[in-house]
Amino acid sequence: MKTIIALGSNMGDRRKYLEDAITEIGKRIGEVTARSQIMETKAYGYTEQDDFLNMAIAVETEMEAHDLLHELNAIEAELGRVRTIHWGPRTIDLDIIYYGDRLIDDEELHVPHIDLHNRDFVLVPVAEIAGEIFDVRRGKTVAELLAALQDHNMEEVKQ
Ligand code: ADP
Ligand code: MG
Repeated sequence: MKTIIALGSNMGDRRKYLEDAITEIGKRIGEVTARSQIMETKAYGYTEQDDFLNMAIAVETEMEAHDLLHELNAIEAELGRVRTIHWGPRTIDLDIIYYGDRLIDDEELHVPHIDLHNRDFVLVPVAEIAGEIFDVRRGKTVAELLAALQDHNMEEVKQ
C-alpha cells in the first residue's frame, strides 16, 4: 500500500530529526519512494515557539494502517527523547495523511488526515509528491485542495 506520511519538527536539530525519522521509516515500515523538499513554517501566535520544518514522504508498506500508526508512534517516542533531566516535548511529529485510498475513522485513526485541507505546511509538501491523489474525505485531489487554500505562512529552506 502506498502511504503518505507528514513529518514535522520544531525542536533541537530539526533536520536531523527529519532525517533520522526517514531512516527509521525506511528500515521498519517500507521503502521510501518519494520525499518532498523541506519547508519552514514561521511560528506565529506563540512567539516563544521555534519555527517548524515540515516535509512529506511516500512509503510503500505492507503494514496495516493501525500497525503503521503504532510504529510511527514508537519512532516518535524513540527520537523524541531529549537529553535533559526532564522529558521534553516531542521533537518529531509523524502523521499518516493517506493510506492508499482508504477512509478510516475510528478512536485512534482518521485517514485521510482530518485537518489536512486547513494546513498549508502539510498540503504543500504532500502536493509536491502526490498532487494527483484523490482525497475521498474531501472529494478533491490534493492539488485542488492546495489551490483552494489561501495561506502563505511558509518559506522554502535550502536543502
Ligand atoms: P498532532 O499530530 O495533531 O499535532 P499528536 O501527534 O499528538 O497531535 O496526535 C496524536 C494522536 O492523533 C494519536 O493518538 C493518534 O491516534 C491520533 N491520530 C488520528 N489520526 C491520525 C493520523 N492520520 N496520523 C497520526 N495520528 C493520528
Ligand atoms: Mg501527530
